[in-house]
This record gives sequence, structure tokens and C-alpha cells, in this order.
Amino acid sequence: MKWKQQIHNMKAYQPGKPIEAVKEMYNLQEVVKLASNENPFGCSPKINEFLQQAAVNHAIYPDGYAQSLRTVMAQHLQVSENELIFGNGSDDLIAMITRSLLYPGVNTVMADLTFSQYWHNADIEGAEVRKVPVVDGAHDLPKMLEAIDDNTSVVWVCSPNNPTGVVIADDELRAFLAQVPKDVLVVLDEAYFEYVVDERHKNTLPLIHEFPNVIILRTFSKAYGLAGFRVGYGIAHQSIIAKIDPVRAPFNNTVLSHEIAKIAVADQQFIKECVAANERGKRQFEAFCDKHGLHYYPSATNFVLFEIKADSDIVFEKLMQRGFIVRSGRALGAPGYLRVTIGTEEQNNAFFEQLEAVLQEQGVLV
Ligand SMILES: *Cc1c(COP(=O)(O)O)cnc(C)c1O
Repeated sequence: MKWKQQIHNMKAYQPGKPIEAVKEMYNLQEVVKLASNENPFGCSPKINEFLQQAAVNHAIYPDGYAQSLRTVMAQHLQVSENELIFGNGSDDLIAMITRSLLYPGVNTVMADLTFSQYWHNADIEGAEVRKVPVVDGAHDLPKMLEAIDDNTSVVWVCSPNNPTGVVIADDELRAFLAQVPKDVLVVLDEAYFEYVVDERHKNTLPLIHEFPNVIILRTFSKAYGLAGFRVGYGIAHQSIIAKIDPVRAPFNNTVLSHEIAKIAVADQQFIKECVAANERGKRQFEAFCDKHGLHYYPSATNFVLFEIKADSDIVFEKLMQRGFIVRSGRALGAPGYLRVTIGTEEQNNAFFEQLEAVLQEQGVLV
């Protein structure tokens, strides 16, 4: 077979282990997954009400243009309908952007550590990947500017950043964007936007008008608690949307996911409550780390990347045997760290109890 050279030794994405598999493997009654930054409170109860009596015709194709969801989102975000594009999760948008702009001979700039899908997709297209180390978990925007040259097509800015959780200040972002060449697309991935509580770092939507080379990505997978429904969206100047849209698969959401997303966005009270609970959970994580002298990155998200002073793969395994699925820092490029999704108060307390036991076994805590 005449495969693309780039995909020869490529491995499929390794997601967090599924709960059922871990239950079976270790014969556990209960397993809590704090690995993929899903909302521990699920989704708006309005969605479950809708699903009880959902009368949706699955025999017909969805509206590829997502008109009804588009109208709702344009209203919600106060943007024009032609400034939006929908994806099968924001992963789908990352793939569309990559497919539109990256090919052998061009390069793409991103942070190191950041979200793996940026370089994975770039690798598939055979583009050169330029990774600029983070400083204290934050994008080094001046160094990223230096990495841009005439052959750069796309710059990825993840704010708040996965896996460090660090958010970029709005004024720093503006100063950076003002210096990026106008023919370079900046992807501002805001998968955790709803979790940001510092209002000074939430005013990013006007950027799409100030800088017509910016696309903002958001998703229903994290705070909205709808990772299983696969809806993400991009917000950008209409000229960018118009270029990417032909690359989109014709029916890349489902009929049901359009309905669900509309209900979700109408229930901002649910988001507010989840964000407040997440803040309380974050304080628990910070207190735990402070108590044991473990370094952590200041998180603006629903996860925390923190030091464990032990081998992260071993601690990951031991925690799994004790019923908690987390993310080993090694897999994310942060050996000696764990990335853990902030759970409910009870989940967090139960998790800390198990982690303390594991770290005692490892000789970290005495
Ligand atoms: C989870 C995540 C995504 C992907 O989300 P989907 O919408 O579920 O595809 C994108 N970017 C970042 C930074 C994420 O953490």
C-alpha cells in the first residue's frame, strides 16, 4: 500500500482508560475517571428531560449548515451567523484547519507542553512542527513570535493551556497578535473558556474583529458536560470561515447534537453552578499540594497539573488499581506530574486519600 510516509509509524490517540475496562481489570465496584477533563456534574438536567421525550427523526440527514444552532449561538455570542463554523468536537475543527493550511514545506508553531492534536494533525499533513517551551506552564509568546518565519502558516495558542491550566492575560494576547504577520492564522483554542473566572481574561471575542487572522475554538465537551455528543465551534472573521467551510465533512454533527447544544447553551445557570463548584474543588487541590509541598500550576480550568515527586506512570497505575483513572504526566510531556480533573468534593477527597496512600508507598510522604 502506498501510505503517506508520515503515517508509517504513527500511533492512534491513547485516550484515558474507560471506566468499565478498569472495573473489570481490577475487579472494582466503583471507578472514578478524572482523566479527560469531563464535567463531573454531567450536563444540564434540561438535556436529560429532553432526551426522555426526544422526538427526533434520525432517518434524515442533519442540516450540514447547522442553521438552528447557528442562530442560537450567534445570538448567545453576539456575533454574525457567518462568523461561526461547527465541528464534530473542536478536534474536528483542528483537523479542518490543519488540512486547509498545512502541507510539506510549511511550518506551524505551538507551545511545548500543549494539546497533542495540534502536532498530531500537523504530522499527518507532513508540515514542520516548531515547539516553543512553556515558561512556568505559560506560552512564551515572545519566543513563539521569534519562531514564526515566511513559511509559517498556523500558530496554536491554547488558553487556558492543556495540560498546564495556565491562562494568557488578554493584554498579552493582544500584544502578541499585533505582531503576528497577517497571513498567519492564529488558532486560539479556548476549550476551557467557561471555567475561566478572572473576567480580565475573558474578553477574547472582540479579537476576531481586531485581528482577522484569528480563529477562536470552543466546545460543548468540557464545562457543558457533553463530550459524548461531539459539538465544537469556531468563531472567526467570515473570510476565514468561508475558506475552512469547504473542507468540513458535509454532515459533521448529528440531528440530536444540534438540539442538545441549543438546550445546553440556554442553561447558563448550570454552567455558573459548575464553575463555582469547580473553584471550590480547585481550592481542595491547592490545599492538598500545599500541605505536601508539591508544586502545581495555577489552573484556570477544571484540571490541575501537579508534582508527585515520584514516577508518574507508576503512580498512575497504582491509582487505577485503587479506582481512580487520572492522566500520567509522562504521557503529556510532564514526567513527575499528574494531570487530574477536578471532581466533585467527595470525589476529590476520596482521590486525595488514595493518592496519599500511594505516595506513602512510594516513599514520597512519610
Ligand atoms: C478537550 C480539548 C479539545 C477537544 O475537545 P472536543 O471538542 O471534545 O473535540 C480541544 N482542545 C483542548 C485544549 C482540549 O483540552
